[in-house]
Amino acid sequence: MMMTTNNKFLISKVAARRVLDSRGKPTVEVDVITEAGIVGRAIAPSGASKSSYEAIDLRDRSRAFRGFDVTRAISNVNKIIAPAITGLDSRKQTLVDRKICTLDGTPNKSRLGTNATTATSIAVAKAAANTLGLPLYKYLGGAGGTIVLPVPLMNVINGGVHAGNELSFQEFLIAPVGADSFSEAVKIGVEVYYCLRDILIEKYGKSAINVGDEGGFAPPLRENVEALHILDRAIKVAGYSESDVYIGLDVAASQLFDKDQKVYRVDDRFYDSNELLEYYYSLIDEFNIRSIEDPFEEDDYRAFAEFTNRVGSRVLVIGDDLYASNVIRLIQGIESNSTNAAILKINQVGTITEAIDFARSAHRVGMKIIVSHRSGETEDNAISHIAVALRAGFIKAGAPARGERVAKYNELLRIEEEEDTLYPGALAYKQYVYLSSSYYNW
Ligand code: PGA
Ligand code: ZN
Repeated sequence: MMMTTNNKFLISKVAARRVLDSRGKPTVEVDVITEAGIVGRAIAPSGASKSSYEAIDLRDRSRAFRGFDVTRAISNVNKIIAPAITGLDSRKQTLVDRKICTLDGTPNKSRLGTNATTATSIAVAKAAANTLGLPLYKYLGGAGGTIVLPVPLMNVINGGVHAGNELSFQEFLIAPVGADSFSEAVKIGVEVYYCLRDILIEKYGKSAINVGDEGGFAPPLRENVEALHILDRAIKVAGYSESDVYIGLDVAASQLFDKDQKVYRVDDRFYDSNELLEYYYSLIDEFNIRSIEDPFEEDDYRAFAEFTNRVGSRVLVIGDDLYASNVIRLIQGIESNSTNAAILKINQVGTITEAIDFARSAHRVGMKIIVSHRSGETEDNAISHIAVALRAGFIKAGAPARGERVAKYNELLRIEEEEDTLYPGALAYKQYVYLSSSYYNW
């Protein structure tokens, strides 16, 4: 009798190297090779507007690369993680990730570094998928059923810590919900981006179209309202209505919060959380805003809850820094009804298994998940696959411009060529769009 073995899936080699991210900072790339000789390769992204509750991105703090070098994280992959996971079955993602967590032994990956663990964890999944001959989204999401493409939340005006301008809100986003397909959504997003460019040049001159870290324009504006007016106009000039394109904001309010005075500095004015609530209500009344991320600082579950209670039927209130993709923090949010949506960033927690656990826990209570890039990105397009695998219905991957941003959208355009795909559009905001209960592969 022939013996069937799984040998080709065993991890035979794990190797990390230093590559660069979109800000020119070093980051960790990991190759995982299976016994079949097939490679899975992944690169860790990195944030600039981080939550205090995120897993730790390990940096050397030496002179090289002004303290941003990652030789310790690379050595952690090569010397600590590699010997421990070599020989394991690459398909046993949970087992591999659990091993990585045990090796780290801290609650926030501060020993190995989330840059080391995230790149390794994703590379293992890719190695298994590639060895099986499946695209990552199919491997992670399970075979069969409709492929749900995500609504892209495109960050077209950059402010906050992502830009060298005075805008206090970090991100002004557009969501082309009126499209029938993902490719049409991309077309709409790009057309609005072009119109925005024209309007900015006309009003402020050519320097206004310099871009920020996520590819959105970083015009010399001081008032959030002004950016919203311009965005509103760009959507109309491009020929789209309020039901075609929704507006979104990422306030990243922790960055605006003065912990001692307990006030937020917005447009050079100071607001306590009640005043900020009123300010948001007035913005929602005036503009077609359908999502607001991190409207309050990362510890104020109560203000989030009050806001969600008031606007949640119409607006996605999204926790990013609030949850940091951490299940324990999510549970607190669920108990206090703080938000109706959450950002998922794998490197905030450090492994695919923990990230999927977070998404699953949110989905279970009807909370929406927006799979997200970081401001420091690379050509790695794993998040496009993860958004599809989770049937998240949303992806946040920056403007429809700059190589590391369009890498994500372009991969989704390729995935859309598969049979039986669905672009949920506005439905993604209304209801939870996962269509099968067995959509996770483990
Ligand atoms: P990042 O922020 O700079 O930490 O990636 C992006 C975000 O706040 O969504
Ligand atoms: Zn955010």
